[in-house]
Amino acid sequence: MKSFWLTRKHFLVFFVLALVALAQLGWWVIFQVGEGARLKHVQQTLWEQQIELAQHWREARYPDVQEFRIWLGESFPDLELKADGRTMGISSSALARLDHMAGGRVRMFVWEGLFFTLILGVGIGYIYWMLRREIVMERRQAVFLTATSHELKTPITSLRLYLDTLIDHDVPAAQRAEILATMQQDLQRLTNLIDHLLQAQSVIQKKKHHRIKQTVETINLAEETQEVLHQVEDMFNRKGIRLKSKLDERLFSMVDPMRWQTLVMNLLDNACKYSPQGSAVELILEQNGSHAILRIVDEGIGIPKAEFDRIFERFYRIDNKNTLQTGGTGLGLYIVKETVEELGGTVSVESQGIGKGTTFTAEIPLADEDNLG
Ligand code: ADP
Repeated sequence: MKSFWLTRKHFLVFFVLALVALAQLGWWVIFQVGEGARLKHVQQTLWEQQIELAQHWREARYPDVQEFRIWLGESFPDLELKADGRTMGISSSALARLDHMAGGRVRMFVWEGLFFTLILGVGIGYIYWMLRREIVMERRQAVFLTATSHELKTPITSLRLYLDTLIDHDVPAAQRAEILATMQQDLQRLTNLIDHLLQAQSVIQKKKHHRIKQTVETINLAEETQEVLHQVEDMFNRKGIRLKSKLDERLFSMVDPMRWQTLVMNLLDNACKYSPQGSAVELILEQNGSHAILRIVDEGIGIPKAEFDRIFERFYRIDNKNTLQTGGTGLGLYIVKETVEELGGTVSVESQGIGKGTTFTAEIPLADEDNLG
């Protein structure tokens, strides 16, 4: 609720400021147009006074038409004596000059006005975008905190219950072994979550401080992947999901082995989390020219096309029942994307939609021949 009001307040202030800025611009345009008309009027009044003055001089000093014409040309070049030799008026060149000046002013203000509007528009757009981003991030962080607290609390509550049972009751050996196994899983869950948070933190730090040095070495991708497959075996078995793999064992890449394992682990973890019991997940590691391709195909809940980009953003979780039933922090794919990009590769997702399974494909460059000691 608080964030709702915060959002409304932010936008209200923003709109009021934008409105004031636009009103200011409108007032400036009106003022400039009025000022142009006023200047024209002043010039015309001045000419009328000149005509009166010239008339006065004519009567007093220059009764001869020719002489008066010469005097008029020298004294008031903007005035002219009409062909009838009696009436005076403003010369067409002076009128044209005034029109040209007025036109020039209008042109200048139109351009200045357009320029100001553009700058103002860009400024308003930029602030609006920043504000929206800030608010979205704030909401996501709130969701993240709730989700993470929940993720931390569930295994801790379970551990406490089991521990109490073991302390307070005389539990038979078989049941005791079962309880200890579950406690071990809960501890593993906690460890995984904390690892996840630390990895995300390290990715963020790396981004901020432009690549803190990491231990890069040439590794056999199949070997490191196999290591992860061993680690997740239990998790898949417990959920009754078949995990198949096809690994090309001749692929080497320059990468920190822990980071590669994290990447594979996060994708497999998701494939398991978002797939139903009895389905299958396949991991394929193969070569495509100078790149290694890691593809993880599941038959799970699928992802709508509109979410393809956003799922890689920090703290983002798809807002539907299927996802929210499953625990998560919204950091897994962010870590995957940052890791892959740091290695000079790409990651993409494909899905035919809700309930139709998902395929994640990561592509990273293979090590040069020279690096294969
Ligand atoms: P989370 O901790 O929520 O799993 P991720 O960053 O790993 O965070 O994933 C972001 C979101 O992408 C998830 O919340 C989920 O909605 C969606 N997602 C990720 N992997 C899959 C998958 N294999 N199948 C369906 N949805 C997925």
